[in-house]
This record gives sequence, structure tokens and C-alpha cells, in this order.
Amino acid sequence: MDLTVGGFGAMTSLGHSLVGASVGVLCMPAMDKLYRRLIIFVAIIAMANLPDWPIPSWGHFRLVASHSIIVNGAGIVCLVVGLHLQGALLRKPHRRVIIGLIVAWVSHFLLDALYVDSRLTLFWPLSEVTVSLPVPWLKTLPHVPPPFDERIIRILMLETMTFLPLLVLAAAIRRWRASARMPVDPHC
Ligand SMILES: [Zn+2]
Repeated sequence: MDLTVGGFGAMTSLGHSLVGASVGVLCMPAMDKLYRRLIIFVAIIAMANLPDWPIPSWGHFRLVASHSIIVNGAGIVCLVVGLHLQGALLRKPHRRVIIGLIVAWVSHFLLDALYVDSRLTLFWPLSEVTVSLPVPWLKTLPHVPPPFDERIIRILMLETMTFLPLLVLAAAIRRWRASARMPVDPHC
């Protein structure tokens, strides 16, 4: 079974990045320096794309170990144990960021499974069964742009319309939480 990118189209990073950004908006600490919040935000988006990182024998070069929840689950366990040993799990804001990183990472597999022409060997190396939960309008790219032809633009637009509402919702929740935290003026 050909599971390299040549076997079927490349999934864009747009949906993963929008979902990562949504998680980032919800998990960024409220009281922290702007540059630190930006680093956390970018790290969570990067984590949402981690299984696709362009590393030889990983990502779209070969969708086996990179898209296995067994392999990635072991990576998540190593991350949590490493952070625990560093004492990073003790502080509540850190815990929220770590949960955000893990949720963004795990979201990658759900999203990839939603594409019409996806077939993920999620349980490799225990099983080579492929998983797909296709949503009719989510399709992989016929080629990696450029060029941005009509077909590519249509795929990217449908992906944006599917996942952008999550980012809007996350921003609304963050705003609502911030306003709920603000002290009430007793004279009002
Ligand atoms: Zn992927």
C-alpha cells in the first residue's frame, strides 16, 4: 500500500493551523508578557502540524509512523514525563499550555481523517487498518501550490469556511472569560 504523498494528495496545513490557533487562543495565559504569549501561540500551532513536519521519513514523505497514534502517543507520554520531571506541571498556567499542546497534537489525526481521500494507518505498527471519516467537501490538494489554480483555491476556501468558525468561537470564549474576570465597579 502506497502511503507516501505520491499515493494521494497532500493535506494542507490551513485547517490544522486554524484549529491550532483556536486551541492557542483558549490556552494562552492571560497574564503574561506579549512575546511569551506569542511563543506559546506559535508553539501550539506548530504542534497541531507536528505529524506533517517535513522531516525525512516523517510527515507527507511517509504517512505511517508520523500518523500513528501509537507512535505519537508515545511521544506525548515522553513529553508529559519530561515536563513532570522539570516540575512544569505544578503551576496551573503551565498545565493549561501543556494541555493545549497535547490537544493541538491529537487534533491532527481527527482532522486528517475527515478528508475525503484520506486513509490513515492510525494504529501502526499494531495494525495496518486504515481509518477515514470523510466530510464530502474536505479534499486533499492535487499538488502542493504554487500554482494556485481554481481547484486549489476552492479546496482552501472550503477548508477555511469549515475551520475558521472554531477560531472565532475560541476568540469569543476568551473575550467572555476576560470580561467575567474584570472587577465590577460598585458605583455602576
Ligand atoms: Zn497529516
